[in-house]
Amino acid sequence: MNSGVLWQAYAIRIESTEPKSEYDVCIIGGGFSGLWSAHHLLALDPTLRIAIFEAYEFGFGASGRNGGWASSEYPVYRRSLIARIGEARTNQLFEALDSAIDEIGGFADESVGFTKSGSLYFARNDAQVSRLRERVDSSHLWLSASEAKAKLNVDGIKGALFNPNCATINPFNLVSLLIRDVAKRGAELFESSFATAVGGGVLVNNAHIAAPVVIQATEALGSADREFIPLYSLMVATEPLSGSIWSELGNSSRITFAEALHMVNYAQRTLDNRIAIGGRGATYPFGSKLSVAKEKTEKVHATIRSLLISWFPILKDVKFTHAWGGAVAITRNWEPYLQFDKSSGYGRLGGYAGDGVTMSYLASKILAQLIAGKESDLTNLHFVNQRIRKWELEPLRYLAVNSLVKLSGVSDREEARTGRPSLVSKIISPLILR
Ligand SMILES: Cc1cc2nc3c(=O)[nH]c(=O)nc-3n(C[C@H](O)[C@H](O)[C@H](O)COP(=O)(O)OP(=O)(O)OC[C@H]3O[C@@H](n4cnc5c(N)ncnc54)[C@H](O)[C@@H]3O)c2cc1C
Repeated sequence: MNSGVLWQAYAIRIESTEPKSEYDVCIIGGGFSGLWSAHHLLALDPTLRIAIFEAYEFGFGASGRNGGWASSEYPVYRRSLIARIGEARTNQLFEALDSAIDEIGGFADESVGFTKSGSLYFARNDAQVSRLRERVDSSHLWLSASEAKAKLNVDGIKGALFNPNCATINPFNLVSLLIRDVAKRGAELFESSFATAVGGGVLVNNAHIAAPVVIQATEALGSADREFIPLYSLMVATEPLSGSIWSELGNSSRITFAEALHMVNYAQRTLDNRIAIGGRGATYPFGSKLSVAKEKTEKVHATIRSLLISWFPILKDVKFTHAWGGAVAITRNWEPYLQFDKSSGYGRLGGYAGDGVTMSYLASKILAQLIAGKESDLTNLHFVNQRIRKWELEPLRYLAVNSLVKLSGVSDREEARTGRPSLVSKIISPLILR
C-alpha cells in the first residue's frame, strides 16, 4: 500500500526567491484560505503587493489532502442555526454558500474535475432514516429506498437525503491552479517559510517583513490557544475500479456520498474512477498537540475500509492503494471564525470543522472585502467578527472530546444492531452541538 496522499501525485513547483522587506499584505499559510485570500484581494485591487508564506509546501495542510466535497453544508445543521440566529440570517448564509460553490466551479479548470451533481446521505437502518428525515428542507430532499438505490447501489439502503448543492473536486489540483492564478497576478509565494505575525508585519527566519495587513490562514496547523481543537480525519483510496464494477455500483454522475452515522464519513468517485473515502474516529490529542501519528492510525483506516466494503460487498477483494489523514479545526460552537481588526491590520480565518472547501472560499472573499473597506451582504453574515468561545481547560477537554468520539462509534453500532435510535445518541447529540 502506498501510504501517501492520493491527490499529491506530483510536487507543486515554487520558484525560490528571497522575500522583499515590505509588502502591502503578508499571508501566513499556503492552503485554500491563504490562496483564496490573495485571489480575492487581487480581484479587488490588482496593484496590491502580496506575499504568501507556507511553512512546508503549498497544499501541505488539509487543502491538499481532503475529501473533495465542495458542499453547501455548514458544521451546524440548518435547524440548530435557525434557533441561534433566526431564519433570515440562516438563509442568507446558505445562499452565500450555494453561490460560493458555483464561483469555485467557474474558476476551476478540467484538472480540478469540478462536477456538481449533489451529495447523498444514505440510511441503512431505521434510526438513520428518522434522523435524516428530520433534516429534510428546501435543499435536502428525501429519496425513497428505490430512488436512492437508483443513484447509488448501497447494500441495505433504506432511503437517503439528497443535497443538489455539492460538487466533487480534486483538492490538490485546485491548490495548484490557485497558485498559478495568484502568481500570474503578481503575488509572491515562499515555501519552507515558517512565519509569525508580529506588530507591523511578520517574522520569517528571523527577518522582519513589514506589512500593514497580515492574514493568519493556518487553520488546524496554527496555534490553538483553546480557540479550536484539531481533530484528525483519515482517508483511504481504492485502486481505479473497472467499468463493470461501476455499472454495478451506479453513480455515473459522481455524486458524493456518506452514511448517516454519528461518526462523520464522506466518499467520492474520483476522476480516475477510484473511491476515496474518509472518516473521523481518531482520538483527540491531549492539549491539542498536533500529531503525525494520528494521521496514520491503522485502526481507523481499517474501520473506514470495512465501512466501504459493508456498503458495497462487491469490493471485498479490491486493493486499497492509499491511506492518509489530516487535521480539521473545530471551534467550541462549531462555527468558523473570520476576524479583521482594522486598527492593527490583523485578520484571521478558519475553524471550518471539516467543511472548509467551500467555506474557505467564502471566508476569504469576505476577509478581502473587510480589508478593502467594502461593505456587502457578505460582510454582514452572522459569523463575521464573531467572538470565539474558548474550549475547556485540560484534562476536561481531552476527556469530553474523546468520550464523544468513542460514544459516536458505540451509538452507531447499537443502531446498526437494533435499528432504533440509540439512547447514547440522545445523550451525545446535544453535546455535539450540530
Ligand atoms: C482528511 C480531510 C478531509 C477533509 N474533507 C473535506 C471535504 O471533503 N470537504 C470540505 O469542505 N472540507 C474537508 N476538509 C476540511 C478542509 O480541507 C479544510 O477546512 C480546508 O482545507 C482548510 O484550508 P486552510 O487553507 O484554512 O488550511 P490548510 O489547508 O491546513 O492550510 C494551512 C497551511 O498553513 C501552513 N502553516 C501553518 N502554520 C504556519 C506558519 N507558522 N507559517 C507558515 N505556514 C504555516 C500549513 O503548513 C498549511 O499548509 C477535510 C480535511 C481533512 C484533513
